[in-house]
Amino acid sequence: NNQCRNIVYSSSATVYDPEEKSPLTENSFTKPINPYGKTKYSNEILLKDIFTSNSDKWKIAILRYFNPIGSHPSGKIGESTIGLPNNLFPYICQVAQGKIQELKIYGDNWPTKDGTAVRDYVHVMDLSEGHLAALECLFSEDPQILTINLGTGKGTTVLELVQTFQKVNQSKFKYVFTKRRAGDCAVLFANIELAKSRLNWFPRNNLDDMCRDGWLWQCNNPKGYC
Ligand code: UDP
Repeated sequence: NNQCRNIVYSSSATVYDPEEKSPLTENSFTKPINPYGKTKYSNEILLKDIFTSNSDKWKIAILRYFNPIGSHPSGKIGESTIGLPNNLFPYICQVAQGKIQELKIYGDNWPTKDGTAVRDYVHVMDLSEGHLAALECLFSEDPQILTINLGTGKGTTVLELVQTFQKVNQSKFKYVFTKRRAGDCAVLFANIELAKSRLNWFPRNNLDDMCRDGWLWQCNNPKGYC
């Protein structure tokens, strides 16, 4: 075997119990409710077992992503969805492009400031910096297993994201309110103090940057990578 004992694992905020109150810390209760979250959580457990089996050798960072959006600022690397997008941001991009007629906003009666659900959107470039910071931390310290949230620590409603996208990109598109989507929760955002203190990492891009960069990729790649 190649003796590789350094691992940075892409986990997700979906491992947290949806009943937990945000901001979520790494110690908040976990209880994934969908298959995606369950696979992420199973792998976290597997990594913890692997670490325990040889705790003087392994260096492992489990990174729990919140809602990554945006693209590389060149507009050359972005998210190419196959078929209809499920996630909000690629959906917005395709509605703005005219590929899809309207955006459906799932619920207008959530207990939030404007009735739409709150999430923690983080720029993919900040996320990639988070991986480098995690690797640097692992390389410079003794063997360990770390679990760390990567988000911005700020909650944004669906309507705020839509309005920011429209403002930044001078784009108008139609949206309608429909019923809540099964499995969604009202508010989910991160506490990122651990990432700041342990990795010396913090997000540099704001929501305007995420909307601008993500839209640039969409404009440059109207058909995705097909
Ligand atoms: N959402 C929406 N319309 C869509 C897709 C998503 O209103 O077409 C909402 C969804 O209900 C959630 C938020 O946007 O409150 C983020 O959803 P997404 O699927 O991007 O990420 P999740 O946090 O669910 O993993």
